Amino acid sequence: AVRVTGLSKRYDEQSVLDGLNLIVRTGEVVALLGPSGSGKSTLLRCISHLDGWDLGQIHVGGKRLGYLPSGQLMTQHDLANERASVGVGMVFQQFNLFSHLTALENIAGPLRWVHGMSQEDADRRARELLERVGLSHRVDALPRHMSGGQQQRVAIARALAPNPSVLLLDEPTSALDPELINEVLDVIRRLAVEDGLTMIISTHQLRFAEEVADRVVFLSGGSVVEEGPAHEVLTQPRHPLTAKFLSVMG
Ligand code: ATP
Ligand code: MG
Repeated sequence: AVRVTGLSKRYDEQSVLDGLNLIVRTGEVVALLGPSGSGKSTLLRCISHLDGWDLGQIHVGGKRLGYLPSGQLMTQHDLANERASVGVGMVFQQFNLFSHLTALENIAGPLRWVHGMSQEDADRRARELLERVGLSHRVDALPRHMSGGQQQRVAIARALAPNPSVLLLDEPTSALDPELINEVLDVIRRLAVEDGLTMIISTHQLRFAEEVADRVVFLSGGSVVEEGPAHEVLTQPRHPLTAKFLSVMG
């Protein structure tokens, strides 16, 4: 469902993505691991059209992203216009909910504004999704009246609302208190197991990665240094950088 080929990106002098290749098949769950600064967030932001890149290609569902019909790379502005139609959902570490909108409106609002849905359809879809993440009782709550775990579940529901073909989650539990992590991981686990959703998750939760991910991809210096079945990579890493990272992570 997602194919990244030779993706490269620089900020001034610094190379952040360096010829990165990654294929994620439909229904597959990939855990993205790697030290801080290895390019995990940047990769996810490129796939979700929040960032542009310099070289290489990204295909989602067979469609080549980020290029004009002329073959030129899109500008940030064109990317923003394409974003709504590509079927990539994104969940952020810091939830990024609209603080002045209720849980329902955080989901239904974008369905009306971006996807042109009627209010009735958008509200129905939002209620359905809130039920799916176990938040039927918080429909009218504002983000500041919800726990971090509840806010992140609303953010997941919002990302799922337009029915994306792939869901990207960037350290979805890193901002949560330890006792709230499991309720979010449970939702993600169900999306993987029951719904067969295609997901790329950057995470430091190694046990979760081993349990839920079909495959682990280890990044260092903006490229993939090792990948394979989750259990194999996590218990018998072949690359010294992966081994070192895993030993530090415990
Ligand atoms: P972490 O585990 O800390 O979240 P990461 O793997 O997500 O790290 P990225 O956030 O993708 O890493 O960053 C990769 C590199 O790109 C880092 O060296 C970072 O400093 C740099 N970088 C990211 N965004 C920018 C920016 N807007 N301007 C300049 N450099 C940036
Ligand atoms: Mg990051």
